[in-house]
Amino acid sequence: TGNWKARLAERLDPACLLWDEPSLAKYSMDYHHFSPVLSRELKDKAAECIVSPRSEEELDLALSILTDERVPVTVRGNGTGNYGQAVPLTGGAVLNLANMNRVLEIGDGYAVVEPGARLGKIDEAAREQGQEVLIMPSTFHTASIGGFISGGFGGIGSITWGTIWDGFVEEITVKTIESPPQTFKLAGDEIRPYLHTYGVVGIISELRIKLAPRVEYMQWAITFEDWENAVRFGMELAQDDSVKKRLVSVHEAPIAQYFKALKLPHDRAAALLEVDERGEDALLALAAARNGRVERRVTADKYRKGIGVSDFTWNHTTLWARKADTSLTYLQTTHNWDTVFEEMALIKREFPEVMQHLEFNKQAGKLRIAGLPLLRYESDERLNAIIARYDEIGAPVSNPHTWDLEDGGRSYTRRKLWELKRENDPYLLLNQLKLKAYSQI
Ligand code: FAD
Repeated sequence: TGNWKARLAERLDPACLLWDEPSLAKYSMDYHHFSPVLSRELKDKAAECIVSPRSEEELDLALSILTDERVPVTVRGNGTGNYGQAVPLTGGAVLNLANMNRVLEIGDGYAVVEPGARLGKIDEAAREQGQEVLIMPSTFHTASIGGFISGGFGGIGSITWGTIWDGFVEEITVKTIESPPQTFKLAGDEIRPYLHTYGVVGIISELRIKLAPRVEYMQWAITFEDWENAVRFGMELAQDDSVKKRLVSVHEAPIAQYFKALKLPHDRAAALLEVDERGEDALLALAAARNGRVERRVTADKYRKGIGVSDFTWNHTTLWARKADTSLTYLQTTHNWDTVFEEMALIKREFPEVMQHLEFNKQAGKLRIAGLPLLRYESDERLNAIIARYDEIGAPVSNPHTWDLEDGGRSYTRRKLWELKRENDPYLLLNQLKLKAYSQI
């Protein structure tokens, strides 16, 4: 396979190819450095070439050459994933889809887009036509739709519309890793094995996603004297169906100290919210009942202009915390609605370094509480002990300190994924080592 780079250079436009060292380093990285464990384990992983097709024709040609030459291929959207999903673990080529980024159509209730289209751009195009994207990660400025579906989960909008598993994606076009690649469309339940499976079963080359009617969101930062009132306020707002909202995010003190641009008091718990402007009175009544203090009120005409409250939520909370203190890292867990306080108290008693951060969301139509607690990293042993304790008390952790696709990515068993992988990727070139072999199950 030694000559594969020469083969690519012969047949692809030079604008699609990069192999200078800085580019190789840049496009072999994602945001796994939030994890001290992954930073250590993935330190030296790098591609030998970056292939960036701009059209379906270039994509097909690149896939044919890479398959003929049996080159490992790692797909990349915009490299904002946190688990090293887009890191080439076995060298070869990074297939960068960021330049296939067109919004092809905004229809009534749907958008058809290329995989590299950024969520923020799709939302902007939808909002211009009186609609909006249902769900987006807090990285929407840069994250691609293909990467979100393949490596993400939910985020802004999930409080109303659920996660990527809840009907967000209506249709996908998939390409196999063959020469030439096969191309087929999938809809409904057939899409499930492609959701959050780190691109191990095929390349998504086009998507149709659902849109909702546009809502005018005000942004709020409201603080509370104690953590319990902040969480209860979040629960009450989440449960109030009369108020439309896109974001309900609560943070234990002193996390707000990391949100410098918001200038919040450090000793109070903070709620960051995006709420329909017609829900202002109801929101203020809920906040007053819990002695909340409004620190920031941004009218809807300022939405998406400059920094917004969502820039401090979901995993952006971790980003700002780590900017202030690189010894901080995080976990991802799901709390139980009825026992969330007991769960948090148990963890606090045994692991006082944990600072609580909750994101309210829906999954399969039911309200859920996602935890993205911050903690100071001491050792792998202590980190694993905290993870084990969360699991034990019934608040399961989706471990962000491994690149392995755990539990078949929630949608499918590993066995099923392997069956599909063998069909779509017969030479097992795609996103190698992300899906553990049978023998390791
Ligand atoms: P990449 O990182 O490039 O890729 C992600 C995975 O998808 C990789 O395995 C890649 O191989 C695969 N892939 C990419 N494109 C394709 C394709 N076309 N076909 C097949 N496979 C493909 N995630 C959330 O869900 N919610 C959040 O709120 C959130 N907040 C974040 C905040 C911060 C500060 C950071 C750093 C990350 C956050 N993330 C969040 C994780 C990540 O940003 C999102 O999941 C994002 O949508 C990933 O998109 P990307 O284009 O960067 O994907």
